[in-house]
Amino acid sequence: MKIAVLALQGAFVEHEAVLRQLGHTPFEVRKLEDWNQPKDGLILPGGESTTMMRLLKDEGLFEPIRQEILAGLPVMGTCAGMILLAKGRLECMDIEVLRNAYGRQLGSFNTVGRVDEVGEDVLMTFIRAPYIQSYQESVRPLAVVDGRTVAARQGNRIACSFHPELTDDTRWHRYFLRICETKDKQ
Ligand code: GLN
Repeated sequence: MKIAVLALQGAFVEHEAVLRQLGHTPFEVRKLEDWNQPKDGLILPGGESTTMMRLLKDEGLFEPIRQEILAGLPVMGTCAGMILLAKGRLECMDIEVLRNAYGRQLGSFNTVGRVDEVGEDVLMTFIRAPYIQSYQESVRPLAVVDGRTVAARQGNRIACSFHPELTDDTRWHRYFLRICETKDKQ
């Protein structure tokens, strides 16, 4: 499948490597011309969400991307990408997130835990991560760490606070690719 990866800023190269490893074809989105090609899904990577918001608007990508997600394009947001999907940004998921607020420390740490629909013992790498503060009934929480929701799904849209692209565990990406494969059958 052809998967768009937002490449304005942040950890997009790592997502592309996982997609290639799993036999798929990523392409980078920086401009409207990049965006305007056929795609089976979209990844919004980690990075700095305020900078990404500004660049999305400057490049005229904000509304086209939002409309395609709302029309059913599967999307995965990791860390800053989760922030982009939330209320107050692209508003494609009914979640409210708290930035730079998760966990026992503001810096980086790893933990292992269950992610519903994905598996047990998933290695979760947090880097100045957000968490989901509240969500509506349309949203299914998938993972909770220290009492805080760190992954969720709403239809074809999934988001996580952690960085699956920085680990060797490809289950989260495979979960997303299954959503991309079956999107028209749901
Ligand atoms: N702290 C970043 C933000 O608020 C997110 C961190 C990340 O993506 N690793 O945008």
